[in-house]
Amino acid sequence: MAEIYDTLVIGAGQAGLAAGYYLQQHQRRFLLLESHARVGDSWRQRWEGLRLFSPQRYNALPGLPAPGEDWYLPTRLELADYLENYAAHFSLPVTLSCTCERAHKKEDGSWRLETSRGDYHARKLVVATGAYRTPSLPEALAVAFPDSVAQYHSSAIKRVEDLVEEQSDVLLVGAGASGQQLARLVLALGARTTLAGPAVSNLPRHFLGKDIYWWLYNSGMMTARTYRWPGKMLVAEGKGEVTVGEPPVPAGVQRITAKIEAYRDGRLHFASKQTAPLQWPAADRKGVIIWCTGYHNQYPWLPEEMLAADGRPRHSAGRSTVYPEVTFLGLPNQRHTNSSLVGGVGQDAGELLGG
Ligand SMILES: Cc1cc2nc3c(=O)[nH]c(=O)nc-3n(C[C@H](O)[C@H](O)[C@H](O)COP(=O)(O)OP(=O)(O)OC[C@H]3O[C@@H](n4cnc5c(N)ncnc54)[C@H](O)[C@@H]3O)c2cc1C
Repeated sequence: MAEIYDTLVIGAGQAGLAAGYYLQQHQRRFLLLESHARVGDSWRQRWEGLRLFSPQRYNALPGLPAPGEDWYLPTRLELADYLENYAAHFSLPVTLSCTCERAHKKEDGSWRLETSRGDYHARKLVVATGAYRTPSLPEALAVAFPDSVAQYHSSAIKRVEDLVEEQSDVLLVGAGASGQQLARLVLALGARTTLAGPAVSNLPRHFLGKDIYWWLYNSGMMTARTYRWPGKMLVAEGKGEVTVGEPPVPAGVQRITAKIEAYRDGRLHFASKQTAPLQWPAADRKGVIIWCTGYHNQYPWLPEEMLAADGRPRHSAGRSTVYPEVTFLGLPNQRHTNSSLVGGVGQDAGELLGG
């Protein structure tokens, strides 16, 4: 007879671990299923040189402070190690190298998960598979470039040195935090560097002597509930991207604030008539594009009825509106403005699973 868990958590990133913490507190019979070989690997796989924009004071999961000084900005590896230590510290049961391939709702109301390591059964599910995993690309634009141009999404970059040479002509599309940070790394290699995409508001790292996160948290902006006023308004207003404390883009980077509309005859064409078409790549250089165009979520393994036409889960503040025994964690703005951040997902997990 197959073992039936009270809850199966799919994904053991920060969201899954926060779920595990509360399930353990409430003595549930649960298991976390994780595709990667190590807890923290989704951070380890991000590019070399990446530092978090959120300081350690706000990078803690429930029950275990993040190490080091409050205002220190950790590297991706330090955050990955914190997550791995967290799982060990609380002895959370994680089955690694286990990918959930299909979720089946059974006639008795419980769930069967088909995974790369066999079937698992549970009464409830927590979906914690990450909001920033599936690359978003402007496909129609991407296919217009010739094969001689190498193209990567920012999520595929491990070390810029492996893809870019001094003789490269690098076009970074999308000027949010990823685009700006990667542009600096590319320029440092001596490559010709162009960063294209509308300007993004950048909050100063410090304001009146305090880290901006101090202000964001103490004003309630980072923790506002997104399903009622004023959180609803903050989400609506904050639709555009905002970066925090990014140093100015170095003068050596060619910065184009117009949106690229098309690529024809070896030239980039822009949405703004004020920006003249630009020949790219330069004749003597090898073109490399890094798409810093964000992410969307896909859940090909969930039953179709749980998803809206655009593929997003049907949920209300993290609870599936189709099968209420299924909880989502880590989605942007799902309960609070910081729901998808390491310092925010714990609160959501407590509210959804702590009762
Ligand atoms: C470049 C970048 C920089 C960021 N910087 C910050 C920052 O400074 N501060 C901050 O707070 N946040 C930051 N974030 C946002 C967020 O904190 C991270 O994206 C974080 O990794 C989200 O954690 P998560 O647990 O929700 O998802 P993930 O870390 O993506 O974890 C999800 C886990 O689910 C597993 N999984 C997925 N599908 C399956 C499946 N079918 N079966 C089994 N396992 C599965 C994955 O292997 C993965 O380990 C950043 C995001 C990006 C992309």
